[in-house]
Amino acid sequence: MLDEQLNYAPCGYLSLSDEGTIRTINQTLLSLLGFDLYEIKGKHVNTILTVPSKSFYQLYFFPIIKLQERVEEMYLTFKSKTNDDIPVLLSAIRKKRNGEIVNDCMLFQIKKRYEYEQSLLAVKKETEERNRVKREQIAELDLLRRELESKQKELLEVNVQLGKLAATDGLTGLKNRRSLQEDLASNIVLFTKKSHPLSFLLLDIDHFKKINDNYGHLTGDRVLQGLALILKEELREGDVAARYGGEEFALILPGADQATAQKIAERIRLRVEGAGWINQTVTISIGTATLITGDTVSSLQSRADRALYSSKNRGRNQVTHASHKND
Ligand code: GH3
Ligand code: MG
Ligand code: MG
Repeated sequence: MLDEQLNYAPCGYLSLSDEGTIRTINQTLLSLLGFDLYEIKGKHVNTILTVPSKSFYQLYFFPIIKLQERVEEMYLTFKSKTNDDIPVLLSAIRKKRNGEIVNDCMLFQIKKRYEYEQSLLAVKKETEERNRVKREQIAELDLLRRELESKQKELLEVNVQLGKLAATDGLTGLKNRRSLQEDLASNIVLFTKKSHPLSFLLLDIDHFKKINDNYGHLTGDRVLQGLALILKEELREGDVAARYGGEEFALILPGADQATAQKIAERIRLRVEGAGWINQTVTISIGTATLITGDTVSSLQSRADRALYSSKNRGRNQVTHASHKND
């Protein structure tokens, strides 16, 4: 019989025989487990242990206590009458009492700690799950980002192609009039600032209508392409050639003064005249104009246009340089 103090001590007390039989158990532990004394006294301790704790008890508790005669701070889980887990911290000593070996155990419930551990574990699991989802999302985002980058690259390439197409004349592959005018505008600003010469040429095929009439529109197209080819071959670095209108072409010659422009124009005129076209000679008339202070795209263009008109008037197949007057 336990004395009153030990029976109701604020910790569980359990005395086991060397075979694991419950010899004595205090009221505190009985209350914790929900048993009456008669229900478990004389039973094996396994009756009040969970399955994992039974193994633990066999594998660790007994060998250690037999070897060292004490066990300190061992975690075990007891099982209540209602089958609830009761985790405890257990310390025990082994001694001889009344000629018999007994193992006296003191137990503290570790409910709070157990709850903390459980909630910590739950938080850890949740955090791991969140991290996993996050990693997946990052990988997905990375994939999307790479797809976006490649699409953007494609788009840029398409835009470059579209830009080229929009600035190109389909028949000859030369720049079109709009693109030429943009180039002329930027060149005028640049060469005015640097006070460097710049010339602008307008070229028009003579009696082109007759070529179409005599040989057909397709042959006319080939003549336009042939002339474009000659112009491309005559281009130097920085020069710009364009199809200005139906059978009219234009050249921007940055750095070329009046004399140079006339020389180049004359060379092109002669080349066209001497080229092996269809059955008849093809000639062109050219008007040249050289940049003067205060010029705009339209003033330079209209001077070249007047010079071209003059070439036509004077009998075609010739080069005329515009007077340096914007009248
Ligand atoms: P001029 O010596 O006064 O310049 O006489 P022209 O016959 O060359 O000039 P005109 O302006 O009377 O005729 C230009 C012709 O160019 C008329 C038009 O059918 C033709 N033409 C315009 N664009 C094209 C084209 O893309 N292909 C072909 N084959 N002909 C074109
Ligand atoms: Mg013409
Ligand atoms: Mg014309």
